[in-house]
Parts: sequence; structure tokens; C-alpha cells
Amino acid sequence: MSDEAHVREEIADFGRMLYQRGLAHGSSGNLSARVPGGFLVTPTNSCLGRLDPARLSKLDQQGRVVSGDPPSKESLLHLAVYRARANSAGIVHLHCTHCVALSCRADLPADDVLPPVTAYHVMRIGQLPQLPFYRPGDPALAAAVGALASTHRAMLLANHGPVVAGRTMAEAVYSAEELEESAKIFLLLEGRPTRYLTQVQAAEVSAAFPS
Ligand code: ZN
Repeated sequence: MSDEAHVREEIADFGRMLYQRGLAHGSSGNLSARVPGGFLVTPTNSCLGRLDPARLSKLDQQGRVVSGDPPSKESLLHLAVYRARANSAGIVHLHCTHCVALSCRADLPADDVLPPVTAYHVMRIGQLPQLPFYRPGDPALAAAVGALASTHRAMLLANHGPVVAGRTMAEAVYSAEELEESAKIFLLLEGRPTRYLTQVQAAEVSAAFPS
């Protein structure tokens, strides 16, 4: 199997897994992976649970469609992240419940929405900035994402959901799953006295597991 064929299978496999875990519903969410000359992204209105590897959209480095079904309207956002992060090869964007709930809150710090709930959150996500609301597919959203992507591997889009990049497709998926769990834990603990990692503990974890 060629490298690209392998990546196509990987996108379909991870899409199915995320759908089966309830992290994507209907035709929400999109996945992409870098391939030579550009990237593959899930088609518009496709269900992550039943992707056809052969019909994934292939875009070049300028975001022009090369082959496959019409791409997700959020493909511009993926392009912006790849341009900003040379070492990222996979991106996951979901409308997963707990992250979306967080993205609707008006009382959380926009520069880092979640406190360091666990070491795994610090390792896989780190600082999580929230972007203002933009309509899906707005080129201004892609520009805003691109501006933060070089220094952040994960971002939360207001009233929308997370965007998470990884050095591989697998890393992006596992980090997105970790983020959804962190959001769930944070919301479960609301109103209770809670011990988060201290700044010193979080810095120690970051230093031991650089991204
Ligand atoms: Zn979306």
C-alpha cells in the first residue's frame, strides 16, 4: 500500500472511531492529514463514521482541490494550520459536546480556557486559547486560526468546537480525545473545591514532555 493510501485508510479508521465514541455526530467535524504536495481532508457533509478513503478531498498547498469530493467548508482552517505549523501532519476539528459547552461559556479566560486538570492535558494540549465567534467557513476564521497556530497546537472556536494539531494523525486524534476528557472533567468538578496542577507542576510536566 502506498503512503497516501495508508493515510487515507487511517483517516477513515480514526473517523469511525471518533464517531463510535460519540465525539462526532451527524456530519459534524473534519479530519485532515498532510500528504506530499498538500493534504487530504474529509469531504463536506460527510459523516466521520462512514468515510470512503477513495473519496477524501485532496487539496494542494494553496488549498485548491486536486481530486475527490468537494472538501469540508472548514478546509481553509486546516490549510492555515499546516502553513503555520511545519511539523504538524494531522488535524482534528470536532463539535464534541463538552468542548462545545466550554466554548459557549462567557466566564472563562480567553487566553487559556482550561486550567491544568491533569498531566495529560498539559502534555497533549498545553495552553488553550479561545477565538471569537466566526461563521463556519469564514475566511477570517482561517486567518485567526493561522495567527495562533504557530504557537498553539490546540484552539477552541467560540460556540463551535476545538481544532487540534498533531505531528501525526494519531497524535492529533489522541490529543483531541484528551481535550474532550479534560473539558468533561472540568465541568464535572464545577462548584466543588478543586486542586488543579500548580504552575510549577504544570511547567515540570511541559519540560519533561515537550510538544
Ligand atoms: Zn466545525
